[in-house]
Amino acid sequence: VIGEGHPDANIFFIGESPGKAEAESGKPFCGPSGEVLDDMLRGIGLKREDVYLTNILLDRAPDNRNPLPEEIAFYAPFVDRLIDIIQPAVIVTLGRFAMQYLLKKLDVPEKRSTISNLHGKLLKARLPYGEVHVVPLYHPAVVLYSASQKDILRKDFEKLKLFI
Ligand code: URA
Repeated sequence: VIGEGHPDANIFFIGESPGKAEAESGKPFCGPSGEVLDDMLRGIGLKREDVYLTNILLDRAPDNRNPLPEEIAFYAPFVDRLIDIIQPAVIVTLGRFAMQYLLKKLDVPEKRSTISNLHGKLLKARLPYGEVHVVPLYHPAVVLYSASQKDILRKDFEKLKLFI
C-alpha cells in the first residue's frame, strides 16, 4: 500500500500502517480509521481526493502492533521520495510514530516533544524543495474510543484550513 491522492496535493497525511482492509484493497485508510479521516476532512470542506494519504509503514504488521524502529527505517526512503514527488505545503502526521519520524528527519527543535504537547501545532521546517509546515495530529483510531478525543481532533483539523 503506497499511497493515494492528488498528485499536486498541498496537504500530505502520514498515518501509521495499513490494516487488514488496506492490505486487501491496496488503498490507505479504507477501514474504520479511514471513516474518521473522511469525516474530519468533510468538516473542513475537503475530500480525500484533494489530499495525499500514505503511511510510515507501507506493509501491514499482521498483529496491528506498534511499528518497530527497523521497520520505519526500511520504509523511510519510500516515504521520503513520496514527499519529494508531491512537494506538499503541509505534512500532517497521524499518531506518534509518524510524528517522531518526521520531526527527527526535519531536525526541528520540537523533535523530542510528545504528541500531547504538539498536537494541533503548526511547526515550520525546511526540505530541499522549500519551506514546509508540519501539523502533528492524534491518530484517527484514537477517536473510535473517545468522543472527547474526537472533539480535539476536529479542532486540530481546523488548522489545516490555512492550506486550502
Ligand atoms: N489505515 C491506514 O492506512 N493507516 C493507518 O494508520 C490506519 C488505518
